[in-house]
Amino acid sequence: MRRKPIRYYSTNLKSPEVGFSEALLRGLAPDGGLYLPASLPLISPRELASFPCKEYHEIAYRILHKIIGNEIDKEELSRLCAEAYNFDVPLEKVYDRKYIMRLDQGPTASFKDFAARMMSRLMQYYLSLNNQHLTVLTATSGDTGSAVANAFYGLKNIRAIILFPANEVTLMQRKQMTTLQNNINVIAIDGKFDDCQRLVKMAFLDHALSGIPLTSANSINIGRLLPQSVYYFYAYSKLAANVDEKAIFSVPSGNFGNLMGGLIAKKIGLPVKQFIISTNANNEVPEFLNTGSYKIIDPSKNCISSAMNVGHPSNLARIIAFYGGVMDESGSIIKPPDLNQMREDLFAVSVTDEETRNTIDDVYKKYNLLLEPHGAIAWKGIKEYSRINKNTMPGKLLCISLETAHPAKFPEELRQILNIEPPMPVSLAGLEQKPEHYFSLENSYGLLKDFILKYYK
Ligand SMILES: *Cc1c(COP(=O)(O)O)cnc(C)c1O
Repeated sequence: MRRKPIRYYSTNLKSPEVGFSEALLRGLAPDGGLYLPASLPLISPRELASFPCKEYHEIAYRILHKIIGNEIDKEELSRLCAEAYNFDVPLEKVYDRKYIMRLDQGPTASFKDFAARMMSRLMQYYLSLNNQHLTVLTATSGDTGSAVANAFYGLKNIRAIILFPANEVTLMQRKQMTTLQNNINVIAIDGKFDDCQRLVKMAFLDHALSGIPLTSANSINIGRLLPQSVYYFYAYSKLAANVDEKAIFSVPSGNFGNLMGGLIAKKIGLPVKQFIISTNANNEVPEFLNTGSYKIIDPSKNCISSAMNVGHPSNLARIIAFYGGVMDESGSIIKPPDLNQMREDLFAVSVTDEETRNTIDDVYKKYNLLLEPHGAIAWKGIKEYSRINKNTMPGKLLCISLETAHPAKFPEELRQILNIEPPMPVSLAGLEQKPEHYFSLENSYGLLKDFILKYYK
């Protein structure tokens, strides 16, 4: 039976629904909202029961095929999954049935590889069908840029321009972007991350550039979201005793794309008891769940888990929509979501820098496991959950904590806390010797515009 293709609606409810490829290539809906699937298929318990013996890329294919359906050739999707997911996804036991899932074995040692590698390949697939070309323009404070640069590197129909604040990224982050070349142009902006973002936004609104198809490829793209459902299925299928068991996942959250991937997984049939939302001191979402009132944190607080320093998460509008509400870009709640249902599904924890450091120390000394600040916050979330639910929580409850970056990306922090040198993953080794190529521009939109017109006309 041929299934009707899934349509995608905008969270602002003011744009028409579109098909998958249009939502993917557009990124943002014309009304400024974010795309979400209007309906979702179900993975049956029987199908779920067939996952334990499958490899990661096979599970990715099953899930994505279910969602994208006939809008992509089956064999092609299967090939893209095998190509994108050619690295390990370790599941490490901490104690009892408490596990850490390491999402840090991709080419840039960040969990963002999972989303970026699939999104880039899906875009390339649809562009090549019609011989179209696209330029990805994106601003980065470090990690997104390297994952995006790496994911788009070498693709035929896509070029990428990545802006980074000249003095705000680490040497390693910079080298992950600037040693690639080919279809990847990297520009150091003499300014801050916010300046880079402002320049990107101006370019998107500039009619003089309308002849150059631009997209942002940032975490609001639906093509980044869907692949982030897969690792929840993967971990579950490898660790659950049977498909009746319900699991707890702890998700270190900043822009809440990762959590959104989890919510989609649950909706299409993954047995999840609760998600633990673990944040740093930027606790606007835990506060919202507590009080029902949402207050942006501006400017966001600087914590050592730097990828989670977000005071107004871009994916929150999607979460609100998932629970029947409407939130606009400014963070105003137009229609309240079902808070009771949200509280049933989500358990929120906010973790201080001191607790983060103590957790890294504790986990290393007790279990000989190395965590970096983001993964430590997720683990602390499980500790808090266990403490608060200790009377009702059976010891056998399956809990999975997500580690989102490789510890080697935070050598100074780990040196200070543990007095050790984290081992370098193969993907990052040798970076120091590679030559760099990048442009430098003053913080001026006119200069960026000239650059784009000169290189991309
Ligand atoms: C981006 C990032 C996060 C936050 O993920 P969201 O999907 O934005 O919530 C957490 N940890 C690391 C290491 C990241 O790079």
